[in-house]
Amino acid sequence: MFHHFYDDRHIRGQGAISQNELAQIIDYYRKSHQILTAREWLDKATRNELGAKDVCLTFDDALLCQYEVALPVLEAYDLSAFWFVYSSVITGGSEKLEIYRKFRTSCFEDIAAFYEFFFESVSESQYGARVKDALSNFSPESYLSQFPFYTAGDRQFRFIRDKVLGVEAYNQILDQMILAQSIDLAEFSRDLWMQEQHVVELHEKDHVIGLHSHTHPTALAALPAQDQWSEYKTNYDTLTEILNTTPETVSHPCNSYNQETIQILHDLQIKVGFRSNMAEQHSSLLEFPREDHANIMGKIAA
Ligand SMILES: [Zn+2]
Repeated sequence: MFHHFYDDRHIRGQGAISQNELAQIIDYYRKSHQILTAREWLDKATRNELGAKDVCLTFDDALLCQYEVALPVLEAYDLSAFWFVYSSVITGGSEKLEIYRKFRTSCFEDIAAFYEFFFESVSESQYGARVKDALSNFSPESYLSQFPFYTAGDRQFRFIRDKVLGVEAYNQILDQMILAQSIDLAEFSRDLWMQEQHVVELHEKDHVIGLHSHTHPTALAALPAQDQWSEYKTNYDTLTEILNTTPETVSHPCNSYNQETIQILHDLQIKVGFRSNMAEQHSSLLEFPREDHANIMGKIAA
């Protein structure tokens, strides 16, 4: 499972890998596995004929860096992949998490400088008193102690974001920080996502384009069934319209799904779906496990 890639044009955000590293991952897997083309893998999966060594490559989120950095590598290896597209961004919309990620990475000397501006912006905001109060009892050493590689700044930032502010207030602070830097959002987002023609081209080159919801909610399973339905139905209709064929695959955004989601995907006649981790055993055709590329890089390095 791949997300971000970097090169001279695309910033090296957290977890991003290069063309060279993608090639290393492919070489590494080829030693012990068979990397199938997306069509082959899909055919075998639906016929229940996948062997223990059959794997495939998947790309989530319709990121332009995937098209510009990863696709040439796939073509050099004569491979195709699954591309899971949340349709709001290829029809002119945008999504905050991706914009914030680029802002954090490209507009500051380092992450510490981002944290400094963030803490300052929070304390000057209407949430200043609430945050100050919460921090008076906060000890960074014991928060998220299961992640030893986090710095004190990482811990304090995550604590404020997740435990004190919550999504809405956090987004408000980030939007204010972006505004304060006079960033033109349309220009700033231009290199983040693929456009319709990129997705069409991938489809024509025999890659498989699948569902990933319309707006990429971070907790889709928490939405009422009706809202889940509209997320997937809009996604389905948009992809059907631009590709002239109905999608047959899905990957669950942020791994968030429940029985209602599975029912919706059955109703849309989706054949195969992917989780975003290896945590559970393969349990149905709509829940194939996936290994994150960061974990694979870790194994190669070890
Ligand atoms: Zn995603």
